[in-house]
Amino acid sequence: MGVTVRYSIVVPAFNEEAVIKETHRRLKQVMDSTRESYELLFVNDGSRDRTLEILKGISKEDPNVRIIGFSRNFGHQVAITAGMDHASGQAIVCIDADLQDPPDVILEMIAKWKEGYDVVYGKRMKRKGETFFKKLTASVFYRFLRNMTTVNIPVDAGDFRLLDRKVCDVLKQLPEKNRYIRGLVSWIGFRQTYVEYVREERFAGETKYPLKKMLRFAWDGITSFSRVPLIISTGIGMVLSIISTVTFLAILVRQVVGIQPYPWWVYLILLNLLCLGFVFIVLGIMGEYIGRIYDETKNRPLYIVSEKAGFHNEQEPNELHR
Ligand code: UDP
Ligand code: MG
Repeated sequence: MGVTVRYSIVVPAFNEEAVIKETHRRLKQVMDSTRESYELLFVNDGSRDRTLEILKGISKEDPNVRIIGFSRNFGHQVAITAGMDHASGQAIVCIDADLQDPPDVILEMIAKWKEGYDVVYGKRMKRKGETFFKKLTASVFYRFLRNMTTVNIPVDAGDFRLLDRKVCDVLKQLPEKNRYIRGLVSWIGFRQTYVEYVREERFAGETKYPLKKMLRFAWDGITSFSRVPLIISTGIGMVLSIISTVTFLAILVRQVVGIQPYPWWVYLILLNLLCLGFVFIVLGIMGEYIGRIYDETKNRPLYIVSEKAGFHNEQEPNELHR
């Protein structure tokens, strides 16, 4: 990757012609103030406007700017992944192009990194200029996901975060295609902390995350980190079986004791319900196995070693074990 720099700032941009110049100006200002080397890595995610043109113009004047251009729109998470693949810094910061994540916060993240943290994520204390609907759905979703998975994914944190080189290297080696990066970062571990910030209004332009993309993203998050949807049917099956068995016994007793006679089809319905219950349970069991197959195909390593001591032939510190 050629020259190494201290910091890489990864900026995914999709149709951001209205802000990209200002974003560059603000990032440059903040990063210059560190007096350390850095690169601004813009990933143009198949923009259909003048984003790429403007970026090329900027890179002619600023030697710290790098551009990666996608052949079409591949999506935000993929753009971040590409940025990290090409970043050469010792610390990598991902930040949105629309200035909703204030560039100044990067300095706070860097300070935490220098204290020895490997992951510093931005936690949104307040979200300005976003619709009530977006805030509500986001808030519900983060909490919902948290309860469905064993990975400790922080609530109210987006993709604005700093990663140490070693975390970035591990992330790069995870082969899965549906990348829900915030989940993966949590899953990786290492020393993680956060800085709080107020999410600003979009500087210009409009959101590139329409409801459809948001739902897709939420679904990726759930299905990458939880097997619950696959085994929901076990629950349904158990409830159905219990209901039908109890009712069956109840009316049988009433019939035998002679309180009330029931027509034959009542039994037929109950028998049907019971069978349906069994079918759902079997589906759930199959779901459990499919879940396991899915886990295997995700091909995440079993564990990640962060340090080793006392070995005679020292190996790379954070190699993956498959
Ligand atoms: N983005 C991208 N590809 C996409 C959608 C969005 O690279 O398909 C970028 C976008 O340019 C911005 C960031 O991802 O830098 C976050 O998008 P946006 O601000 O539209 O999302 P919101 O803040 O509304 O959730
Ligand atoms: Mg935004």
